[in-house]
Amino acid sequence: MGELKSEMKSIDLTGQKVLVIRDARSAQVAGASQVLVCKNCVVTPSARDFLAQHNIALVVSGASKAAAPAVSGQSSTVPAYGSAHGSPAPNPRLFSTPEAEAVKKEICAVGRKLWMRQFVDGNGGNISYRIGPNEVICTPTLVSKYDLTPEDLSMVDLEGNQIAGSKARTSEILLHLEIYKAVPEAKSCVHCHPPHATAYAITGKVPPNLVIPEFEVFIGKVAISPYETPGTAEFAQTVLPFVKTHNTVLLANHGIICWADSVTHAEWFAEVLETYCWTLMLASQLGAPISYISEQKGSDLLAIKKKLGLPDIRFDTSRMKECQLSDLEVPGSIALTPSPCDGNTGKPLEADLEILVKSVTDAVMALCD
Ligand SMILES: [Zn+2]
Repeated sequence: MGELKSEMKSIDLTGQKVLVIRDARSAQVAGASQVLVCKNCVVTPSARDFLAQHNIALVVSGASKAAAPAVSGQSSTVPAYGSAHGSPAPNPRLFSTPEAEAVKKEICAVGRKLWMRQFVDGNGGNISYRIGPNEVICTPTLVSKYDLTPEDLSMVDLEGNQIAGSKARTSEILLHLEIYKAVPEAKSCVHCHPPHATAYAITGKVPPNLVIPEFEVFIGKVAISPYETPGTAEFAQTVLPFVKTHNTVLLANHGIICWADSVTHAEWFAEVLETYCWTLMLASQLGAPISYISEQKGSDLLAIKKKLGLPDIRFDTSRMKECQLSDLEVPGSIALTPSPCDGNTGKPLEADLEILVKSVTDAVMALCD
């Protein structure tokens, strides 16, 4: 250890309240192997990146060993990316790997698709990709998805701390992170505000099933999460009851979120849902009833979906009694009250059943008139 210490060149920046990339560069030019900062020093993400890329340790002066595992002897070296909840310490180097560069390009291409299809407006919507166990590449705040470039993207850990990138990460990343923590298969999340799907989200209704095969296979039953203020932890957690059994959730009075095994596929799900909602609305104007695919044929579609490894609450046979393939559709309606089995509440509420029975009875009576 003594020999190791004698080889180290430490630059003392404990007098600074903020460490920016210029300081990091100066330290590198001076041949530093570590930079000493005070406990309350704010280190910008680009400075952290630069130090990590040049193998310069960031050492907090006077930090306790409990708070920061020591790797350099007497001082506590803080890779500046503390792992708060047992996740492995995030690795900022993942931000500049060939895989990361490819993902950044894919995110930009998907951002442009979202904008071209009018699924986002202003600086709305956000896209992310989980590139490591505790590393997520994401879009920045306040940038139109049409204008995105790979340089705009940033990387956060699973707690939302920015660990790479010069632009501030999206404020809605917490929503994505809850999904990554709950669903290990989720590699990418796309959040956007497509108008027809969002129209459902502002009425608190979900589209019915067994109308178009592609929707059954790729999406299936859509859940709707309750409204919360965007960007908050409460908002992020509203999707938790649904994300294990749904790849697409309507966010009440807001928009949608989809997750998949790639950025491109998550955007596909947004397209499938939006087109489905739009088609249902168009059909409702034709003055003729929608014809439904039979439950039996619907089972064939569900089998295809299972083979593709996509989630669907209807695979859970214990819930099938409460949650038929199609649910009970009300003739003439293109929207259903979300089934209680979409949540984690288990059994349907009696009040919901009463409403359903009454609406079906009313519809049958209307047909008899
Ligand atoms: Zn949003």
